[in-house]
Amino acid sequence: MTHTTVEQLAAGPLTILSEDEEMFRSSVREFAEGELRPRVETMDEEKKLDPELIKQCFALGLMGIETPEEYGGAGATFFTAIIGVEELSRVDPSVGVFVDVQNTLVNNALIRWANAEQKKKYLSQLAAEKVGAYALSEAGSGSDAFALTTRAVETSDHYVLNGRKLWITNGSEAEIFIVFANVNPEAGYKGITAFIVERNFPGFSVGKKENKLGIRASSTTELIMEDCIVPKENVMGEVGKGYKSAIETLNEGRIGIGAQMIGIARGALEASLRYTSERVQFDKKVNEFQGVQFQLAEMATQLEAARLLVYNAARLKDAGRPFLKEAAMAKLYSSRAAERIASQAIELYGGYGFVKDYPVEKFWRDSKIGAIYEGTSNMQLQTIAKLIIGGK
Ligand SMILES: Cc1cc2nc3c(=O)[nH]c(=O)nc-3n(C[C@H](O)[C@H](O)[C@H](O)COP(=O)(O)OP(=O)(O)OC[C@H]3O[C@@H](n4cnc5c(N)ncnc54)[C@H](O)[C@@H]3O)c2cc1C
Repeated sequence: MTHTTVEQLAAGPLTILSEDEEMFRSSVREFAEGELRPRVETMDEEKKLDPELIKQCFALGLMGIETPEEYGGAGATFFTAIIGVEELSRVDPSVGVFVDVQNTLVNNALIRWANAEQKKKYLSQLAAEKVGAYALSEAGSGSDAFALTTRAVETSDHYVLNGRKLWITNGSEAEIFIVFANVNPEAGYKGITAFIVERNFPGFSVGKKENKLGIRASSTTELIMEDCIVPKENVMGEVGKGYKSAIETLNEGRIGIGAQMIGIARGALEASLRYTSERVQFDKKVNEFQGVQFQLAEMATQLEAARLLVYNAARLKDAGRPFLKEAAMAKLYSSRAAERIASQAIELYGGYGFVKDYPVEKFWRDSKIGAIYEGTSNMQLQTIAKLIIGGK
């Protein structure tokens, strides 16, 4: 779908999809139902994505949704990527974030900030076969991202990177990493620079993998750089301007997390509608009790509100309009909605909601991350407050 079509659609209802968007949604849904659903439980238990599934994500074009066709991508819109993440997360939010990071952070950063040679080399690999990761956070710098201490020292023909990154999604699978390091700590955040680092560069290794509450099949790892040699041509964007690409990419990326959250909320609501239409107590299906009906109605309303916020932020981005406040609101609200809806789903399942034989306990565990990564809820509130009140 072209950007002109997006402009035209912007005047219409947010939830009405174009023909291309509808087709994409149904193909991702078919994949999620057919290939993903049977693997969800095992991947959660084994804390690992099935490599076969990763191959299928590439074959379906899910790993280069916005990547221009000249680099082997689908050349679609940001909104299309959002629909993909939502549909995958409806079945498994671990696969949702796997695809989300590749598209809304890694490819997105390269499309926006990389030079022509870098795009040709890396976007093509990322669309075809290689997984990417986005490495900003460190043990001592999360919300305060610019306090990162990974150091990059320039030599005659390359940079030498030293430091450790923490919490890096796709760390186990990735072969291409966008790594943020400081070339001049005295200049503070104005020394931060983005580097494209390949897994096999000398001095680079992947460290400990986290054992998590939710999105357990998604890998979250440490990255270790010990005198890691990075060629000068692998600086992405301008030296000292990495802070700008880091933040601007995350501003967009958090709409993707919103999509992951509405996918979770939909999965939990659909499961609840199904279960309450089958479960009988007091000789009635439990969805015949008004108390249960009202709970389902609340869940559906919260989901609809979250979906509108996420879709609007994505459509604004595609239309080239300001979207910062809307993206922050979308992530804040959708992560809360997902957590509430998944929690209510557990209660509607009764005792069965509390055990792993049914999907809803996993949705609840998976929802919790929405309030943490790509800026905690407090950081979203801070962004929204700044934009509505003004000032620093
Ligand atoms: C599963 C997972 C995957 C992740 N994936 C990635 C990734 O791929 N790449 C990457 O770079 N990072 C990633 N992260 C890191 C993530 O972005 C950070 O965890 C997040 O930004 C929060 O940072 P922190 O953990 O250091 O918490 P802190 O910043 O230490 O926050 C602790 C608490 O203090 C609050 N707080 C901090 N500062 C303020 C303030 N100024 N005002 C009000 N409250 C404040 C926070 O809201 C939070 O409640 C991931 C994290 C997890 C858990």
